[in-house]
Order: sequence, then structure tokens, then C-alpha cells
Amino acid sequence: MKIPESVKIGDIIYKVSKVNRINADPELNGQIRYSMGEILLLDASAFPEDYKFNSFLHELIHGIRYHMQMAVEDEDEEEKIVKQFTNGLAMVLADNPDLFK
Ligand SMILES: [Zn+2]
Repeated sequence: MKIPESVKIGDIIYKVSKVNRINADPELNGQIRYSMGEILLLDASAFPEDYKFNSFLHELIHGIRYHMQMAVEDEDEEEKIVKQFTNGLAMVLADNPDLFK
């Protein structure tokens, strides 16, 4: 699926940018900056397109959690929940390619 140039979550329009590094952290493939209204995605050419799209979905779900003020204990719990929803959503989208056409 195609990664959009921007996405509106609640009252914030997030600009989606592909960048070469994020906060100098080699572990980060993506990051959502709520107050800046931006989603950064690592644009490593070695990453398959599906992997990049999943990174986008991951940040999107962080944004939805933030907007909906879903309570989480801490960052670890948030990451766990976001990864589970991302993997589940990616699975359903892959298994139902015509779902949103
Ligand atoms: Zn995350």
C-alpha cells in the first residue's frame, strides 16, 4: 500500500517525511512527533516496501492512541500494544487486498 504525504488524525494533520536518520538512533525506523505534527520514516533502500508501510502503520497507530487518549502504563506497554495492532492490521490488509478499494 502507498504511504501518503500526510495523514489527519483527529485535529492534527501529520506531514509524513522519509528521512535518512531519526535522532541518530539506529534502532528507530519511524517516529511520530505529536507537537510538531510530523511522522518521520527511515527511508532505507534495503527495506522492502511492505516493511516501510508497516513502519507508517505503526506510527499511525501511535497517533490514534495519542488522539484517543488511550491509557497505557508506560512506553513499553504502548510499544507492545502498538506493535500488536500494527501486526494485526497489516495481516488483515495483506489478506484482504480489496478491503478499502
Ligand atoms: Zn513505536
